[in-house]
Amino acid sequence: MKWEWLTGQVGYLPATESPLSADVGLVRTDEMLWVYDVGSTPDVAAAVNALPGKKTVVLSHFHPDHMGNLGRVECETFYGGAFTCKKAGGGIVVSQDLFLPEGVHLFPLPSIHAKGCIGMEYGGYAFLGDALYPAVKAGQAVYNVSLLAQQLQILKGLRAEWFLVSHSRPFAQHRDAVLARLETLYARRVPGQTYLPAEMN
Ligand SMILES: [Zn+2]
Repeated sequence: MKWEWLTGQVGYLPATESPLSADVGLVRTDEMLWVYDVGSTPDVAAAVNALPGKKTVVLSHFHPDHMGNLGRVECETFYGGAFTCKKAGGGIVVSQDLFLPEGVHLFPLPSIHAKGCIGMEYGGYAFLGDALYPAVKAGQAVYNVSLLAQQLQILKGLRAEWFLVSHSRPFAQHRDAVLARLETLYARRVPGQTYLPAEMN
């Protein structure tokens, strides 16, 4: 378990595939360690707990590889979407943009991947969890046209230059590349269409 640092304040613990555990994002401010997702395995929880300082957890969404360690991680409080907080039995619901002290910005991010995805933006970086991923319907990876439109609008409004995408390597993707890819997909919609195939060919 080794933390990777993108800046002196923004870092992450890389995801693992087997067992499946999502990337754990970290923002280190003067007063608080902001932990974005907590992974699912005891060694990941131990790596988070070994960091000195008060911690606040932000859950990107309710999938077990992202929030499985919630009961094992020591934190002051946690934030999540309404559905995630319901599953977790507590927490602070993020239902609109939240601009928190020290420059941390939490925001809902519509996504077909999961109900109630939440992003966290800080200092030129935006943690997006799994929100950019499609869903599989009838054996095909698809995006929902209207959710994709809403997601694009929110992503374009972010100031971050780098988007941090869970399970992806590189973890940090330039915003222009991500937006261009999603715009290309969105442009392929036809009137009345609900789902867009995720494949670009
Ligand atoms: Zn997920």
